[in-house]
Amino acid sequence: MFDHITQSVPYQHIQLPYPLHLDIKRLDLIHPQISGNKFFKLKYNLLAAQQREFSRVLTFGGAYSNHIAATAYAAHLFGLKSIGIIRGEELAEKPLNPTLAKAQSLGMHLHFVSRTEYRLRGDANYLQQLHNQFPETFIIPEGGSNQLAVQGCQEILSQSDLQNYDVICCAVGTGGTISGLIQRSAPHQKVLGFSALKGDFLKQEIQQWTKKQNWSLTDAYCCGGYAKTSPELFTFIQNFEEQYTVPLEPIYTGKMMFGLFDLIKNNYFPEGTRILAIHSGGLQADIRNKLSY
Ligand SMILES: *Cc1c(COP(=O)(O)O)cnc(C)c1O
Repeated sequence: MFDHITQSVPYQHIQLPYPLHLDIKRLDLIHPQISGNKFFKLKYNLLAAQQREFSRVLTFGGAYSNHIAATAYAAHLFGLKSIGIIRGEELAEKPLNPTLAKAQSLGMHLHFVSRTEYRLRGDANYLQQLHNQFPETFIIPEGGSNQLAVQGCQEILSQSDLQNYDVICCAVGTGGTISGLIQRSAPHQKVLGFSALKGDFLKQEIQQWTKKQNWSLTDAYCCGGYAKTSPELFTFIQNFEEQYTVPLEPIYTGKMMFGLFDLIKNNYFPEGTRILAIHSGGLQADIRNKLSY
């Protein structure tokens, strides 16, 4: 069901005033609803849920979560029911935003919980409790990252990507996507992750999914934390979109490209380096209007 979509991802060449080669792999264009990396992360999770004869999947996310949007759609495609545990009990009282309204229209049952309860989303006892409350449910973690997601994200890179590029860049949130890219990468390649949030803990997450060493992660371009922004970031995104007609958002892909262009300007890459930047999507919520600088 997914294969015909994931096999024909367009590339876009970006002309640079430097002796480097840069292409963008436009995962944002693969599907209008399940765009970007989330598609790859869900694939083997939904297949596993189907094979084990679960009738529904359950997952976690914030009000504008790309992962919630993608899960609602993909579960619907697979004929599975879905449950979204949504952070913020106050949201139950308000009109649904477009992300949640769409998820609900696709049959996702929205279950709003307090921020305190939401923090338990990785706790074994809490997950057991959810299992009791929602029997026959396949639970997918927040952001969709688990071993099956890492397996799916390996398929982001084609055979020719392993030959045609020296460096692969991606945005990092929970680390599942970059782990798949690292697993699939060739020994001569380096995978560069641009973290959307602050801190070193993500390195350990990634090491839990891959033993390979040909990668590095920077949080130097996260603008202070998850969903934090800066005027420079917004200016960069606007200029980039005008010049190259590639839409970016300020949470993930904007920070990645901002970081990548900064490294390029500072001669981080040797002459002739062939770079592939993964556009992981994330444009569904039109999040730009929700964040201010
Ligand atoms: C979720 C998301 C990411 C982060 O992926 P992880 O596997 O959680 O690291 C990157 N980019 C976009 C656009 C996303 O929606």
